[in-house]
Amino acid sequence: MLAPKDRMPMTLPITPDHIDLHAMLAELRLWVEMETPSQDAAAVTRLVDHVEAYAGAAGLATERLAGTLSYGDLLIVRTPRAEGANTKSILILAHLDTVHAHGTINEKLPLRQDGDRLYGPGIYDMKAGVLMAVEAMRLAAQAGTHLPVDLLIVSDEEVGSPSSRPAIERLAADAAYALVVEPARDGGKIVTARKGVGMFDITVRGRAAHAGVRPLDGRSAIRAAAQLVLQLEALNDPARGITVTTGTIEGGTGRNTVPAECRLQLDLRLPDAATAAEVIGKIEAMQPEDPDIRFEMSGGLNRPPFAQSGEGRALFDRTAAIAAKLGITLEGMATGGGSDGNFTAALGVPTLDGLGADGAGAHTFEEHILVSSIAPRTALLANLLVSLDVGA
Ligand SMILES: [Zn+2]
Repeated sequence: MLAPKDRMPMTLPITPDHIDLHAMLAELRLWVEMETPSQDAAAVTRLVDHVEAYAGAAGLATERLAGTLSYGDLLIVRTPRAEGANTKSILILAHLDTVHAHGTINEKLPLRQDGDRLYGPGIYDMKAGVLMAVEAMRLAAQAGTHLPVDLLIVSDEEVGSPSSRPAIERLAADAAYALVVEPARDGGKIVTARKGVGMFDITVRGRAAHAGVRPLDGRSAIRAAAQLVLQLEALNDPARGITVTTGTIEGGTGRNTVPAECRLQLDLRLPDAATAAEVIGKIEAMQPEDPDIRFEMSGGLNRPPFAQSGEGRALFDRTAAIAAKLGITLEGMATGGGSDGNFTAALGVPTLDGLGADGAGAHTFEEHILVSSIAPRTALLANLLVSLDVGA
């Protein structure tokens, strides 16, 4: 006779046994072999074509949106919905672009498996997540959902989603929940809060002069920029969660010329809206000491802070309860990395992020997923899609 503990306490409609992991991994390899740097619109759009056909074959409806600003196309994948139904949706957010340049797969990060680890460019951030979302939607549509599901796949997330932001916000306006299939963190944790991301491009203008003949006529843009960098980075405050990083600096035209121009690229991470306004206000108020130097600044908040709301907390609790039935102990965490979930959370849509594959090494040549995370987390997502309703 079977002891009770030998039977799974499974009352969920979808279990990991419903997932054909072998077929998913074969498909994922194809997606990773099609390299998709954000800057190559044609390459990203080719994979969008492939994913559109794949989702169609899975019985899901698709809609294409043209990319703008020289980025690739966007794809919306939908579960079937009742004719004329006017109900809120579940919005899933994903991206197919990666930070990796063409050729990365040939040398620095070949597609290879080492035990449970499957390596490849963009596999963890986040082609595995896109595939998991499509599979979860296929299973959820078969089981039946209370709410229609829209999966929006964008092509420019890694550069701040300038082309896709209007589509994200338009779909978010009709969404009861937003689920982001960005990768999981630190042993399968999902993301319940993200810092806001700010970006500034700053040009410091001085005056050129011959360094030997008329040095006093010059106004060094590099020296003024160096002083500005120290002033900017003095805004760093780890205790308050504020980070200010000068990521690049370039300037000058030659060794023997007082430099007339110097350019900086600045990255900001800000925990909440009030802090963001404070820090950005301080940066915009910075002035050169020398009246012959000018600062030209462009930029601001690219992604608003994603703080956890009460509804967001309730969504997390509900997801954790489903995960527990699958034998997964789900933990939430906050991160400094931004995602498209920042946009939906800022619009007041309860948002959960990091629901994609577990693994590590995003944006590095060590990028990999944990193969063992695919089936359980796809089942988790599918059950979440089945269970969510507006009253949740
Ligand atoms: Zn990502």
